[in-house]
Amino acid sequence: MRKVSIFGATGSIGENTVDLISRNPSEYDVVALSGGRNVARLAEQAIALKADVAVTAFEECFADLKAALVGSGVDVAAGPDAIAQAAERPADWVMSAIVGAAGLVPGLTALKQGKTLALANKESLVTAGPMLLAEAKAHGATVLPVDSEHSAVFQALVGEDTTAVERIIITASGGAFRDWDAKDLHKATLEDACTHPNWDMGQRITIDSASLFNKAMELIETKEFFGVLSDQIETVIHPESLIHALVGFNDGALMAHLGPPDMRHAIGYALHWPDRTHLPVDRLDLTQIGSLNFRPADPERYPALRLAREVMEAGGMAGTIFTAAKEAALDAFIARQIGFTHMADIVDATLSTLSGEIAASEQLTLDSVLAVDHLARKTAQAIIAAG
Ligand code: NAD
Ligand code: MG
Repeated sequence: MRKVSIFGATGSIGENTVDLISRNPSEYDVVALSGGRNVARLAEQAIALKADVAVTAFEECFADLKAALVGSGVDVAAGPDAIAQAAERPADWVMSAIVGAAGLVPGLTALKQGKTLALANKESLVTAGPMLLAEAKAHGATVLPVDSEHSAVFQALVGEDTTAVERIIITASGGAFRDWDAKDLHKATLEDACTHPNWDMGQRITIDSASLFNKAMELIETKEFFGVLSDQIETVIHPESLIHALVGFNDGALMAHLGPPDMRHAIGYALHWPDRTHLPVDRLDLTQIGSLNFRPADPERYPALRLAREVMEAGGMAGTIFTAAKEAALDAFIARQIGFTHMADIVDATLSTLSGEIAASEQLTLDSVLAVDHLARKTAQAIIAAG
């Protein structure tokens, strides 16, 4: 039996992972599950999967989780340190599906066991990619991408000579506002931004898809994970979201990965890698689809893409500042303190304020990343408060 843990089990990626594991319970020994405020669902999962421990991220939810699991034999804990401790429990395969930079420490902790980390939490790579991958190498651990685009690139590279890769094309649906006039974007409300044309995901990534901050993070994630240069990475708007990514080789070939917009494909690939196995996802009928469309991603309309380029070129801790500022701006948008287009302005202003202060060559350690993350959040919040 494979020992598995799922961090962020109650979210969209977490539920899809639980779905796959629940279909073959005799194959998995579930060690740890973590969640947030939805303790009823976390308790339900922990009982169904017979987890050793269930952890809520929030101390104030401890009593409710404890009550929901009384007599179940599942250990109960709360808070970020408890999540990190749960990540120390031995597991062969760990799903990192917490949303935001809060996913960094549990993922890093799990990697130190030298096993496999299925990484949905893209923020870990954006905020501290070189450190995370160096730790994985030092401990003989494997990191498998779960973001659909990166899983697609990873699959297109199986058996290939990576020195022959010329470019990587990451597709973007264009999000909720892809058909809006750019001059109307400032009027977009929270409700408008919380719908996605093709994917069913958590609220934060759905809003990030509308602003293209999700795609911006994915470009940085591509640079970090596949070790390519910023100018080898392209993005194109592909409204159908059926081609997830393409890899271009030096002989002119383009390898595209297609699949239905169902995260159980990428999760299942990481769960069974290096094998392929039957997965309960729809099969594409190309004659029904008829045509696939592509159009350029306009950097004027999507300032997040320009900021991603700046971050990739700056290197060092620019990704840490970017992630933290983006999270602070997103919090403010969700709290209706700022408008939709202000999110990019705030990230831009935070990067300008801090990039001089934080040397590009600064060594990435967990302490330095957490300190810069804290400083960037405070700076972004001050910029928001100043209006
Ligand atoms: P979600 O909001 O649906 O779920 C997030 C999970 O993290 C929940 O279990 C929540 O309780 C937990 N959580 C929230 N705040 C936390 C905190 N401060 N500390 C610890 N746990 C916390 O998010 P999601 O859509 O499942 O996305 C999870 C991650 O996967 C994100 O990094 C996202 O970018 C990435 N991802 C998601 C999708 C998708 O289809 N949903 C696709 C690709 C990548
Ligand atoms: Mg993605």
